[in-house]
Amino acid sequence: MRILLVEDDTLLGQGVSAGLAQAGWAVDWVSDGLDADAALRTTSYDAVVLDLGLPGIDGLAVLGRLRAAKDATPVLVLTARDTLADRVAGLDAGGDDYLVKPFELAELQARLRALLRRSKGAAGPILRHGRVALDPASRMVLLDDEPVELSAREFATLQELMLNAGRVRTRGQLEDSLYGWGEEIGSNAVEVYVHNLRRKLYAGLIRTVRGVGYVIPAAKT
Ligand code: CA
Repeated sequence: MRILLVEDDTLLGQGVSAGLAQAGWAVDWVSDGLDADAALRTTSYDAVVLDLGLPGIDGLAVLGRLRAAKDATPVLVLTARDTLADRVAGLDAGGDDYLVKPFELAELQARLRALLRRSKGAAGPILRHGRVALDPASRMVLLDDEPVELSAREFATLQELMLNAGRVRTRGQLEDSLYGWGEEIGSNAVEVYVHNLRRKLYAGLIRTVRGVGYVIPAAKT
């Protein structure tokens, strides 16, 4: 899951990006509205955490441009003041949720998980497929109700494929969801994660679509 964090407060930006990265999110952090606008036009994100008071162009303008471009990426707005006018402005401009500063990292993460669930059309918090269940909150994966130990990137690969069950993810899409800017990507990293997932879970869970990518087939109903 790849997040764009737009926050000009250096301490807060550092804290939030480090906290999210530690929890397994790929995070790109910008501190200027124009940089945010450029990032959103060139990179595909699962969600945006957007401060409203920014240098360059403000957060509402960034949000306005995003929605004017018919981009439905979920946006969580950060407001400095808990005033009705601020919250209404953020939501009316196309924000999906908001948090008032100061906030706890745990709440930000829970709200992001909820936004992602809604945007991917998942009914409940636990993702299930056949014998596998994945809980984004506890970061636990179960096979036949038994916990399976996965690395952070293996977990993220599995989550991305389960959230997109029935849709083929290319290697590039998987890499984009796993790594932020400037992070080194091994040339066959995704292949290794998929190989490990098949070994730790079961071989038929993830199918290779030759020359395209990987897919977890849609569940039969
Ligand atoms: Ca600010």
